[in-house]
Amino acid sequence: MTGQRGNTGSLGDRTSPGNTASLRPDELEAVYAISKVVSVAEDIDTAMDEITALTRAVFIFDSAVLYRLQDGPEPLEPAFARVVGRGRSAPADLAWGERAAREALESGQMYRYETDPKPDADRLDQHFYLSLPMIAAGRTIGVLVFIRFGGPSYTEEQVNLAQFIATHVSQLFERQLLVERVANLEAERRLARLQDEFIAMVSHELLTPLGFIKGYTTTLLRKDTAWDEKTLSEFLNIIDEETDRLSELIENLLDSSRLQSGTLRIDLKPVRLSDLLGDILSRTQTRYNGLILTADLHAADLTVHVDAKRIGQVFDNLIANAVKYAAGASLSLSARRAGEAAVVCLRDDGPGIAPEHLPNLFKRFYRVPERSAGVRGTGLGLFICERIIETHGGEISVQSQPGEGTEFIIRLPLGDALPEVSEEGHV
Ligand code: ADP
Repeated sequence: MTGQRGNTGSLGDRTSPGNTASLRPDELEAVYAISKVVSVAEDIDTAMDEITALTRAVFIFDSAVLYRLQDGPEPLEPAFARVVGRGRSAPADLAWGERAAREALESGQMYRYETDPKPDADRLDQHFYLSLPMIAAGRTIGVLVFIRFGGPSYTEEQVNLAQFIATHVSQLFERQLLVERVANLEAERRLARLQDEFIAMVSHELLTPLGFIKGYTTTLLRKDTAWDEKTLSEFLNIIDEETDRLSELIENLLDSSRLQSGTLRIDLKPVRLSDLLGDILSRTQTRYNGLILTADLHAADLTVHVDAKRIGQVFDNLIANAVKYAAGASLSLSARRAGEAAVVCLRDDGPGIAPEHLPNLFKRFYRVPERSAGVRGTGLGLFICERIIETHGGEISVQSQPGEGTEFIIRLPLGDALPEVSEEGHV
């Protein structure tokens, strides 16, 4: 507060609570209109704007500030402030009545402060504060401060009116606090439910391959049976595949948490797009025997600055998804240049995805409910793909129609349009 504490008798004055009998008809009407605003208010800012306008019609003030009580070293935080009279052209230089607000907070009662009027002083340096605690259920929840620059003094009738207004604003504020509390509780409950669901899903996903590994190992260790070569090899293959699946799951979980915390390392190097996609193609052909994957890489003679391992991981994931969710479908991979970007598309002619799921597809843990039954997954794959592409300064999108297949489109910047990477290589 920049004003000087005056030395006349009206400082720190406290008056009794308001009384309607003393209100003029226009003031009563304003108080009634304010109570209506409070009863239908949806957000505090709009309601306070309306209350400020209604108040200003019957009560002169230059600015009004609403402080809310908060935890921490500075107990009052401005929740709303409006300059409606003097000082509108220079709000940054104005006094906002923090000290007057603290006085009302500490005493729990209205506090009035008036600078000694000096005829030649700047009006903006002469502060007339009316600071009213807002009380709900016997507890101070904030303070409403009215400020006049250069006077006049608040009359007893005006103080009475201001108290009515403060009572209504308290109700508005209390409702807002209740709404926030309910929203916080709901958010906490949602978070707890999500954590439970996450633990259940991850445990299930980890236990399934572990169950296979344990079962086949125990079987192989049985002393009472001799396994022929073919069965032995079949069982060992299952153990091998399930171990890969387990490490892939753990890698996904770790990547997802590194991406959330911004600690995933990417190592950008200039790479020929045709080489990168060629590697992906040959890896896919070895991995998925019989999969039809055509490629049009003629326009792929481009250089991209990427972490080849991470981009490979993105395509491996998209192809694994096509194998899981578009079983038996043919895939096609194409690459072209579009301005300063390389655009790579992976299409399948599988069952497609219903439009209502598309906006959620890249969200962490999102799975299309009707497609997830019996198909193993965590809903992390596309989330990781999107974040990896974004850390390269690129974009991934999806186009799909039920019955017409799915296409994932990846744009990666070419040449010098590189993302900013810190010295350690973290994005
Ligand atoms: P996950 O495979 O672990 O469920 P993803 O994040 O990789 O998680 O995929 C999210 C969802 O997107 C999948 O559950 C699946 O329903 C859907 N999906 C992904 N790719 C395809 C595709 N090619 N065709 C149809 N649905 C797909």
